[in-house]
Amino acid sequence: TAKDESRGVRGRVRVAVRLRPRNVEEAVADADMPDCVELQPELKRLKLRRNNWDSDTFEFDEVLTEFASQKRVYEVVAKPVVEGVLDGYNGTVMAYGQTGTGKTYTLARLGEEDKSARGIMVRALEDILAEISPETDSVSISYLQLYMETIQDLLQPTNDRISIIDDPKTGDVSLPGATLVEIKDQKTFVDLLSLGEAHRFAANTKLNTESSRSHAILMVNVKRSIKGKDSALSVENGNASHAAKILKPPIVRRGKLVIVDLAGSERIDKSGSEGHTLEEAKSINLSLSALGKCINALAENSPHVPVRDSKLTRLLRDSFGGTARTSLIVTIGPSPQHRGETASTIMFGQRAM
Ligand code: ADP
Ligand code: MG
Repeated sequence: TAKDESRGVRGRVRVAVRLRPRNVEEAVADADMPDCVELQPELKRLKLRRNNWDSDTFEFDEVLTEFASQKRVYEVVAKPVVEGVLDGYNGTVMAYGQTGTGKTYTLARLGEEDKSARGIMVRALEDILAEISPETDSVSISYLQLYMETIQDLLQPTNDRISIIDDPKTGDVSLPGATLVEIKDQKTFVDLLSLGEAHRFAANTKLNTESSRSHAILMVNVKRSIKGKDSALSVENGNASHAAKILKPPIVRRGKLVIVDLAGSERIDKSGSEGHTLEEAKSINLSLSALGKCINALAENSPHVPVRDSKLTRLLRDSFGGTARTSLIVTIGPSPQHRGETASTIMFGQRAM
């Protein structure tokens, strides 16, 4: 069955790579230079150019070209995760890549004017709201920013009392103090996302930081009651004679979807010449490298996933292992100027597989 298969691939991270199109400057400045990558989507392969003659070839679970629509990206990267959440499993979708390669475009576009532009967050909520029944089920969200090991509440910026509780026995993570808003309809959700985005911008202006230096984390809790009738039906399949007599209490299924717009993966100049302090540089590298270690451990099916090394990985703890499903989308740009950063993004994705 589908459930057994999901257990079979336990711990396995699905990795997709997405290339964004050249922007105007790149199209003009490097007009006579080829892209640093060449994609072969049918073969799920990507070639990274070494020079004019040679290239290295990498395989991914999905290879999404600059022509891939937002809809297709959602379907191959996020939809299987969302379906798991509706069945009561935890799931994570993360975007990793250099600043300017399309993480926020992929995850957080609202698409209010142009519906085809809607990103993964909006599409996921649409699918979830369409599946649940309003009388018995509930959906609630928190929206957070993690900057230098500090958690900020994007739904309530004055709130600075968020802690992470991870129960070592059950493996569950909870965030006492974080604002949790129940979502009844799509409009409420889209309004909260824009509010969160505005708060993110304001917080970063105040701290004089760029939002590319922080992680944005959307948490969606889905609680569903599978009613007595449905449970009688499922009994019926196994044992027809008892089906009518058994009146089961509703089964409650809880699933959590976490969508993470990660901080830009570009190397940070530790000399401070870019205006970054050494502390900041270290801290940003800390969470991304801790995440890399956890993903590698998952990929290798290692029994020890080092979640305690950063707040980011502590937050994601209940998405690592067990029956949780994880999709990683690595975003890259085509510019030959950024070949080095593109190569390191590709390697991060490769190590997760
Ligand atoms: P990041 O969040 O990784 O820093 P953004 O999502 O902000 O990057 O994208 C940088 C710019 O590139 C934005 O102007 C965005 O609209 C554009 N862009 C990103 N991905 C695509 C894409 N697949 N198609 C068209 N434009 C894109
Ligand atoms: Mg961004």
